[in-house]
Amino acid sequence: MDAARPIVGTASEPDAAGAAPKAADDTGRVTPMMEQYIEIKAANPDCLLFYRMGDFYELFFADAEIAARALGIVLTKRGKHQNRDIPMCGVPIERADEYLHRLIALGHRVAVCEQLEDPAEARKRGGKSVVRRDVVRLVTPGTLTEDSLLDARRNNYLLALARSRGSSGEDRFALAWIDISTGEFNLAECDRAALAAEIARIEPGEIIVSDAVYGDAELAPYLRSLPAVTPLARDVFDGANAERRFASYFGVATADAFGEFSRLELTAIAAIVTYVERTQIGKRPPLSAPVRERAGATLAIDQATRNNLELMHTLSGERRGSLLAVIDRTVTAPGSRLIAQRLAAPLTDPAEIGQRFDAVALFVGDAALRAELRGRLRAVPDLSRALTRIVVGRGSPRDLAAIRDGIFAAAELAARLAALEELPRAIAEAVADLRRPDAAIAAALAAALADELPAFRRDGGFVRPGYNAALDEARALRDESRRVIAALQVRYAEITGIRSLKIRHNNVLGYFVDVTAQHGDKLMTAPLNATFIHRQTTAGQVRFTTAELGALEAKIANAAERALALELEIFDSLAATVAAASLSIKAAAQALAILDVATALATLAAERDYVRPEIDDSLAFAVTGGRHPVVEQALAPDGGAFVANDCDLSPPGDEAGAASAGRIWLVTGPNMAGKSTFLRQNALIAILAQMGSFVPARAAYIGVVDRLFSRVGAADDLARGRSTFMVEMVETAAILNQAGERALVILDEIGRGTATFDGLSIAWATIEHLHDSNRCRALIATHFHEMTALAAKLERLHNATMRVKEWHGEVVFLHEVVPGAADRSYGIQVAKLAGLPASVIERAKLVLTQLEAADRAHPGQRLIDDLPLFAATGGHHATPADRALTDLVAALAALHPDEMSPREAIEALYALKAQLAKGKQRSG
Ligand code: ADP
Ligand code: MG
Repeated sequence: MDAARPIVGTASEPDAAGAAPKAADDTGRVTPMMEQYIEIKAANPDCLLFYRMGDFYELFFADAEIAARALGIVLTKRGKHQNRDIPMCGVPIERADEYLHRLIALGHRVAVCEQLEDPAEARKRGGKSVVRRDVVRLVTPGTLTEDSLLDARRNNYLLALARSRGSSGEDRFALAWIDISTGEFNLAECDRAALAAEIARIEPGEIIVSDAVYGDAELAPYLRSLPAVTPLARDVFDGANAERRFASYFGVATADAFGEFSRLELTAIAAIVTYVERTQIGKRPPLSAPVRERAGATLAIDQATRNNLELMHTLSGERRGSLLAVIDRTVTAPGSRLIAQRLAAPLTDPAEIGQRFDAVALFVGDAALRAELRGRLRAVPDLSRALTRIVVGRGSPRDLAAIRDGIFAAAELAARLAALEELPRAIAEAVADLRRPDAAIAAALAAALADELPAFRRDGGFVRPGYNAALDEARALRDESRRVIAALQVRYAEITGIRSLKIRHNNVLGYFVDVTAQHGDKLMTAPLNATFIHRQTTAGQVRFTTAELGALEAKIANAAERALALELEIFDSLAATVAAASLSIKAAAQALAILDVATALATLAAERDYVRPEIDDSLAFAVTGGRHPVVEQALAPDGGAFVANDCDLSPPGDEAGAASAGRIWLVTGPNMAGKSTFLRQNALIAILAQMGSFVPARAAYIGVVDRLFSRVGAADDLARGRSTFMVEMVETAAILNQAGERALVILDEIGRGTATFDGLSIAWATIEHLHDSNRCRALIATHFHEMTALAAKLERLHNATMRVKEWHGEVVFLHEVVPGAADRSYGIQVAKLAGLPASVIERAKLVLTQLEAADRAHPGQRLIDDLPLFAATGGHHATPADRALTDLVAALAALHPDEMSPREAIEALYALKAQLAKGKQRSG
């Protein structure tokens, strides 16, 4: 009838709800149920224990206090343990998912403890027997399978991190990560320097590490900055029996069948499968064989760059406004997950990238085909997540239906695509995979499943009438008895003369005769009291049972129970058929996602006029008419047209081998002119190209980038009480230490966060280092106009500036990038635009004229003259100022921010500042 708590004494098991809280009897002994509870809780100390009692999961003791606070539910106190009240709270099973979701999001882990037998079974063992219970599953952030607990459009990864200590002190790490809800299984290895970027790319929902790694002094600060890191006992990360655990998960004799793995990789793999088995309590969700990523197969993008470029979410954490939001035109959840994966990990192999372009190109030219395929895809369910739930025993009838519909849809799409001529390789492979699932499985599901399906197996009614004779018979019996009850109600109303008499049903009383209070007495006096037995009096109603009703109820219950048991049997056999076909179904699911992504990227390209880039192994970077994909789309609704700009960082000189390194562009121009937009759009174009998407440009020719860095200089963030200049310097150091000639570096106004001369010096030295040592392609925006003088000395440095027009003393931004240097900042004009009082503007103009007249008019020229470029190496006529600067650069370059604690970093910064101050004194 309702989800109300069962009433004491009428509950369906001896120790259910009412009896439960009574932990100790009068003599102070612990009740058998509380004994059971304490034992199970002791085995799961790091989890909140959801202890199943009837229609509720109950929590006790500290768990209850934590959950009540976290969920905002009532904390009650019932029973005593060691003479103290036992705090308790409960959640109804129908709403358990919702509460689980909130607890997991808050970083809790939950052990779900179920009743493993019918309470009637326990009663048979004697009145005081406790229903058998045990934990059936641990719910942790990285091991979720329910749609209600997951974001349909994002993967939820569990990552195992294994470490080996090299003899020379160089640590190696193996990363194994899975999405348990889809079965995807990946593997990679890296060193300490690359670790953070790898983890940033994967964005795992949960990371497992050994206690030793978690406690490691050097790694601890980093690990603790990540959400949901679970330290585990050493045995999980034991390399010795790793291969055996791996093989046993996949039910094979040896892991050789999956290829060769290093011991470190095996350790990570074994840790992850062991953790899955422990959290799923022996169930084995279908995982694909681990796929190793070739080292360097993906474009390395560190966390700061990801944030700064707003790839997956904006700086404020939203999906809206991110690059992903702009390019994700997929129509299915698996497609959405795949496009996010591709954006997070662009490729570096031109051939592989080219195959993705081919797939997109197939659909760009044919709008009708695209629309048709997307129409079909839109109706396709999330096959892989449904499959996982079915295999781990959490499937619903609707999950079976999803498999049925998915297999049919895959076959239809395959037929449609096969009719096209000359499919590109990626699509031809997808078509082959779409055909893999056995059509007979879908047919079997179609024959068995009813038209309308309940959300849960336990609700029954999902098997089609006529499918199973025994089931039909049990249902007929059940329904017939219900008709008899209806007839009984009519008869009782007649013999009692109470026309309003009703026969009703609820979970506590079962079937009962219900009359209003005014008629109650009549049934409780002779002669009617011989037939009607009083059960319950409520505010307005009096309730009775009869012998006849009791007998009918038993009959109905038996028939219904039998019908449900038969349905569950049918469910299990269908689920087993589906599970046996896991591999083929997963392949088809992946193929559907690939098609969704290809057609979605084609839609994007066609609608927003993107072009296919040319990609190869050169160091070229030539974008013609490039646009910023996000800013462009934001401007479009206003009718504001985005101004396209060219960018050429290709090595200068056209004879092959004339110059082995790419160019650096130094972009100057006033605030608001579009410098930052221009820088970022080129980084985004590189990312889009390498993930296999067309790009917002008229043409683009890109030699694959292996690492991408993007940094913005910032002013001190006083509100948060820390110097973002420090952060900026640490990050700049990372770039100078890591960028090779295949890297692309974007520096937006570095050195802005400190005094002008410090800032200028650091920016100056940084550019020299990028040009001479890193030799990478770079785009640098600066407001230090002095630096444009560097172009005279650095052969691959090119000055570019944002065109502005002055119009009656006002500045007009043309957003056009042209060769040359900005002559001035137009700061005063911008200030005027912003509405500063006229008197302030006039005064500022006066001050500026004076300053410009003074000696400081050409500090850049002076620097150029004073600072021999190779002072660091040559050093013969180095002045004290040169030495101070080169010492500073050397000290900066020697820093390894990834290996420093925050404290060491800040100390290093102070040391740098002190050094700088000392240098100035000496030279000044
Ligand atoms: P800067 O870094 O030079 O201060 P931004 O790149 O932040 O300037 O650009 C300021 C604003 O100008 C942006 O928010 C955008 O609205 C507009 N803008 C920038 N580039 C363009 C462009 N190429 N076409 C049209 N509008 C642009
Ligand atoms: Mg800017």
